Amino acid sequence: MSLSLPDCREMDSADPLARHRDAFALPERIIYLDGNSLGALPKLAAQRVHDVISRQWGQDLIKSWNLHDWIGAPARVGGKIARLIGAKPNEVMAADSTSLNVFKTLHAALRLRPDRRIILSDEANFPTDLYMAQGLAELLGSSHEIRIVPLDRIATALTEEIAVLMLTEVDYRTGRLHDMAALTKAAHDKRAIALWDLAHSAGAFPVDLNGCGADFAVGCGYKYLNGGPGAPAFIFVAERWHDTAEQPLFGWMGHEAPFAFDLDYRPRPGIHRFLVGTPPILSLTALEAGLDLFADVDLADLRRKSGALGDLFIALVEQELPGSGLVLASPRKAAERGSQVSFRHPEGYPIMQALIARGVIGDFRAPDILRFGLAPLYVSFADIWNAVAHLKAVMAGMEWQRPEFRRRAAVT
Ligand SMILES: *Cc1c(COP(=O)(O)O)cnc(C)c1O
Repeated sequence: MSLSLPDCREMDSADPLARHRDAFALPERIIYLDGNSLGALPKLAAQRVHDVISRQWGQDLIKSWNLHDWIGAPARVGGKIARLIGAKPNEVMAADSTSLNVFKTLHAALRLRPDRRIILSDEANFPTDLYMAQGLAELLGSSHEIRIVPLDRIATALTEEIAVLMLTEVDYRTGRLHDMAALTKAAHDKRAIALWDLAHSAGAFPVDLNGCGADFAVGCGYKYLNGGPGAPAFIFVAERWHDTAEQPLFGWMGHEAPFAFDLDYRPRPGIHRFLVGTPPILSLTALEAGLDLFADVDLADLRRKSGALGDLFIALVEQELPGSGLVLASPRKAAERGSQVSFRHPEGYPIMQALIARGVIGDFRAPDILRFGLAPLYVSFADIWNAVAHLKAVMAGMEWQRPEFRRRAAVT
């Protein structure tokens, strides 16, 4: 039985999340399937940032740190992220970038295992996480080592030598979802610390950090949380480590008494010691607006819809484009995927450029991956139908052969 556009429209009318689409300022005639790279603009973000600029910054000036609780923004915004990732509000801060938070948490984790020297990660992990680990190992005088193995060898590589297991829950290329509970338990069985990157998880489906016993986590504000380009990231430290974990960047915002201006650093108790410098209020304002859109979202609906959008995409590509050479790179089972579907094709780059020229925005990841992010708050089932229809036209008309689609831009 074949699927049609009316079937997709029916799925949209039965979708409990469909009403959220209107909260986003999406351009007309664009099908936006790149929310895993840069989330769409919440209408509320534009209003709130304007208010903070004109009224708070413009009129109340420096008084706003107290008057409008600018100083409390990292903890307040972190508290709103907590619900999405299965953490307590006092375990999360919105701060810095994901890369920096990897550095901070990784160092804190290594200090909790001073008798061990190895950071274990998988070779499909996002490069910046591996780079930060390499830089940290070098800073520590090469006493530490980063060991990178394929994911299916993590279990055997987890020995008593491993200080930290550092993984990203969703593979950024294939969308493969890793078993956080099982891998965290495997790490703990060897007394290793578990550090998770939730860049492609937070806001896409419910995460259960505490249920899984995770020790540390980091993640992005500008992907599924819709915080805007370069939005602050987040950092999670399990409460049981609050008194012992110490991060290496001794900034004044992590000091016990920043406005005492003491000459010596004393870390503030709790998650606050993971802050470094002055919080970026305009960016935090936009991120908080993005998070407020999740306030009345049932996270189980998020998971169900994200799986259904992916299932539909895969079914339609197979129905409409048989023999196109597009090979599914994501797990077929929704339960094993994050919120994206990816296909391999040797001409992946120009195919994606031709699609973008038609208004279907996904992205390309080297060497041959076409990636389609399915943000459940604003992507509709009809969008999926239309995206696949454009893909079919691109392939049938060999549109991707046009020379302008082969030129590589700085950002892919
Ligand atoms: C997107 C992403 C990052 C990005 O880190 P930034 O510091 O924000 O540039 C880090 N890790 C993973 C797994 C990502 O997907």
